Amino acid sequence: MVKKEFDVVIVGAGITGIAAGAYLQKAGLDVAVVERLGEAGPHCMTVETLEPRAAINPHVVMGLTGWGPVIEDLDLEKFGLKMVFPPTQYGATFKDGKNVMVYHNPQLTAQSLARHSEKDAKRFMDIMQAAFPHAVDAAKLLLYSQASPDNMEQIWQMGALAGFSPEEFRTMNGFEFLDLVFENERIKQTFMGVASIAFGGDPVGRGEGAVNVFACMYLPQGLFKGGSHNLVHAIVRCFTHHGGTMIYNSPVEEFVVENGAARGVIISEDSPYPEKEIRGRRAILSNLSAPLSVQLLGYDKVRAADPLLAARMRDWGMSGESPFMSVWLLKEIPKWKSDGWDPAIRECWEPYRAWDSWKEAKEWFGLFESEELWDVVGTVGEIFLTAAADKTQLTPEGHCVLVYEEELPVHLRREGGFEKWDDIKWKVYERHTEMMEELAPGMKKLILSKQVHTPLDNWRKNPSAIYGHEFGGDCKGDQWYLGRLPYRMPISNLYQINSCWPIGASFLGSAYVAAGIVAEDLGVRDQPWWNHPPLLWYLKQVGLA
Ligand SMILES: Cc1cc2nc3c(=O)[nH]c(=O)nc-3n(C[C@H](O)[C@H](O)[C@H](O)COP(=O)(O)OP(=O)(O)OC[C@H]3O[C@@H](n4cnc5c(N)ncnc54)[C@H](O)[C@@H]3O)c2cc1C
Repeated sequence: MVKKEFDVVIVGAGITGIAAGAYLQKAGLDVAVVERLGEAGPHCMTVETLEPRAAINPHVVMGLTGWGPVIEDLDLEKFGLKMVFPPTQYGATFKDGKNVMVYHNPQLTAQSLARHSEKDAKRFMDIMQAAFPHAVDAAKLLLYSQASPDNMEQIWQMGALAGFSPEEFRTMNGFEFLDLVFENERIKQTFMGVASIAFGGDPVGRGEGAVNVFACMYLPQGLFKGGSHNLVHAIVRCFTHHGGTMIYNSPVEEFVVENGAARGVIISEDSPYPEKEIRGRRAILSNLSAPLSVQLLGYDKVRAADPLLAARMRDWGMSGESPFMSVWLLKEIPKWKSDGWDPAIRECWEPYRAWDSWKEAKEWFGLFESEELWDVVGTVGEIFLTAAADKTQLTPEGHCVLVYEEELPVHLRREGGFEKWDDIKWKVYERHTEMMEELAPGMKKLILSKQVHTPLDNWRKNPSAIYGHEFGGDCKGDQWYLGRLPYRMPISNLYQINSCWPIGASFLGSAYVAAGIVAEDLGVRDQPWWNHPPLLWYLKQVGLA
């Protein structure tokens, strides 16, 4: 018998929706997650579309889940999650034949930095030594708590760990931060390269830029064994093990709001699920991005409750940038030009392409804002070569998948509009291939086949990812930290769990915070298993705790 009523209904089985569902179900509530597609986690996939056994992760590759308490709270290892932590967190490889390596172990990072500047290596170690004792609290504050003015104040105080007063930290952008801390260009480019993804704030924004760059100096990340989609499998297993209900192939067309309270959702007539109205007795959670959420709620209903919030949700910025991926299947692992500088690059699974100079990095932000697509293509982005660190990612023939992922301006108005991504995608790919050939000479000769994923493809796959945006909307300016959406909506029983702080990436911070708020409101937060601190699991995995 299918049910038509649950305690809690969650719309959208992205990783945030299912993880929030798993927490609430484990806490004793009866939860349904309603998903438009026939599978969960549409932006956390692993596919074999080039060759059997050549696994491609077209979205999440940087596994950030270890940053938080979620793995331990939800016992995800028992449900099949395994993360691997190769020695490097990331790196950067340059056309001039140099590289920079960032390790889980800060002392090893310092050794890599020392090859460029002894002074920078010492400064890096001083900062790490000051920051490490506060790392757990900092993770809690930044990623596993609701944004609040009090927490904001504490975030500004964190600047002291790098030698800045709260007032300096609050008014400093990422470039100033790096210029004041380091002298070497390649080191500054490396840290700014990671920060340029802007998942923790705009690097050129005041305060947010400094916070983002500082956080990127130490990135607790690893790989999901068997591919990123295994994160999704483990969470769904946990959710259903505790009795949760996944309702697939069921696009929600409308939220039901009665007498000022959210009561359920109406799903498409085409859904195989027999009930077309699914009721939530105690709470309805929307894991849809702000504009889609307000559309399905009804703009007028939200406006009646809070006109400012309704307008912000409708006009929520989601076109500041979006990822483009070029994917190559190679005959074998390519050799980086920087191999001779530090051969550790051979085992680095995420070397960045981080511009050719610090000046170019500074100019890039202006060109990007001006939507000068062809001036920014191929200048900064993430390179993923997971087989370099995890040999199980090689195919039986020894082939490997190389990925270049780059944030790009999305509108293409000078090219004729957003739909033109289909027309220009191979030109972008050609630029990426030429750039990669310079970083790894001979790489072109190794290409067996290729693939691209554009911002338009992201949006096609997931209508919540408007303009292909990967994080529930631009996380900068008036949409940063206190400017993100509230979890508790002005309509009773209704919670927004997307486009909030923190963003919905694989560290699962928004899932953790959202579940905590709902559980508190419903009186089920007090659980003996729901008390792990962030970061400690990760530190144990990498031998630092
Ligand atoms: C190319 C790319 C690379 C990325 N790389 C990384 C990375 O390396 N590391 C990392 O941590 N993150 C990465 N991300 C970001 C990460 O994938 C997302 O932040 C995360 O998957 C978002 O999950 P979510 O649950 O918050 O939102 P979403 O996945 O957007 O969840 C929304 C859900 O709602 C569903 N939906 C939409 N409309 C309806 C409807 N009408 N009714 C019912 N359901 C609906 C969607 O199908 C989707 O399942 C990347 C994203 C992309 C696109």
